[in-house]
Amino acid sequence: MPESLYKQRVGRVETPEFAELDQHRDLIIAALPGYSQHGPTHASTCYVWPSAECPVGCGHCNYASPMSTDRLTRYSVAREPAAVMRLMNGMGLWKAVLSGGGEPMVEPEFCELFVNEIDSPDLTEIELITSAHFADGPQETRDAVRRLVRAWRERAHGLAKASFTIRISLDWFHAQRIGVEPAARVIELLGEDDLRDVGCYVRSVLLDNDPTTERLAEALGGKVGPIRDYQQEIELPDGRSILVYHKNLIVEGRMNERKLSRLPVGLPQQSRADVFGKRFLDGRGKSVPARTYNGPVVRHLDGLACLVDDDGKARILEGNAPNRCADVRQVSDWAEAIRYLYADPLTVFLVDNGPQELAALLSDAFPEAATLAADTNQLYHLTESLLDRPARRLYATLRVLEQHVAEGRVTVPEDLVGQGWSMLDGAGVGRRT
Ligand code: SF4
Repeated sequence: MPESLYKQRVGRVETPEFAELDQHRDLIIAALPGYSQHGPTHASTCYVWPSAECPVGCGHCNYASPMSTDRLTRYSVAREPAAVMRLMNGMGLWKAVLSGGGEPMVEPEFCELFVNEIDSPDLTEIELITSAHFADGPQETRDAVRRLVRAWRERAHGLAKASFTIRISLDWFHAQRIGVEPAARVIELLGEDDLRDVGCYVRSVLLDNDPTTERLAEALGGKVGPIRDYQQEIELPDGRSILVYHKNLIVEGRMNERKLSRLPVGLPQQSRADVFGKRFLDGRGKSVPARTYNGPVVRHLDGLACLVDDDGKARILEGNAPNRCADVRQVSDWAEAIRYLYADPLTVFLVDNGPQELAALLSDAFPEAATLAADTNQLYHLTESLLDRPARRLYATLRVLEQHVAEGRVTVPEDLVGQGWSMLDGAGVGRRT
């Protein structure tokens, strides 16, 4: 089956001698006594992917494969929701999001169950991110949206009173595939009197010569305002105002500069990851996706930003080694999952410092890491790229441990660490001087 580019990379099969480096890294992690200090243990936000597939198939999408029969046999959280709900309901969330990956609404029953049952004491927002592909006509739109809203309204007494928002993905690439009408149908429906308490906004991609937002406004009989700080408003005739939030275009993977040069749209400076990414710098000038909410209004979180993939892998956004995630089927709850994740020195480092600092540390032995970090135009996959080889994972682990030992945060098994450096020498990775 065609896999997502992310999974193709992290699933690479290694030769046996390089696999030994990973085994040795596992031995070191298992021998560590545990950290005396690390980042927060609760998750402020968590995005769950009910599916890795999507029927829309946009030209810039690095995740969603075309629909395939393989999805029927593969494990999916959408088919066994109990495990993922148990994990997420223990996270301590502020915001819970159905997203992709693929398109959540290819699994509508899971989406309904999620908005009905997701909970945390301080849960404030539940959001569905969708392409609105299901909104084929007025009746289909009404049926699907009203089922979701009913599920939200029927949340049990005692669960957190969270708002419900539908975020529609609509950009030039989406519009080439399904037009603007599905998005317009959902927005129009949410103008009905008894649906006005459901939030709605649009997420687009910032491009030059892109008429998509104007086309959407025209379909709704609305008026578009100017873009300020990646945001603009569509004023609707019924008095509502719909936010359109623009993000950067990913031009690595399915879309690239060569393909883009043949299209009628262009890539403005503000749509480059290095410019767009400045929105997310924290008070120390660091970009730490593991502690950031990257919505229209950026928030630096007191907890973690987490994801659960469709195959049940729970991870921290840019916050853990890609080959060492917690699995919703193998942990009894979030407390066990986060203990497992923080047992890895790389998690502790990434949650403190973010992937750019990991790149700086790796570049002493792997100069290409600095280039990767500087040139990537894809936010949120730098950690996967940097740690996609066992030698880099082991090297980074040993370097991070040196720092953490010096800070008094952990003690290490000296013999295993020494063996690790010897193995790296044998693999041709020069020890830093
Ligand atoms: S609608 Fe979203 S998930 Fe589907 S192909 Fe387009 S970008 Fe990917």
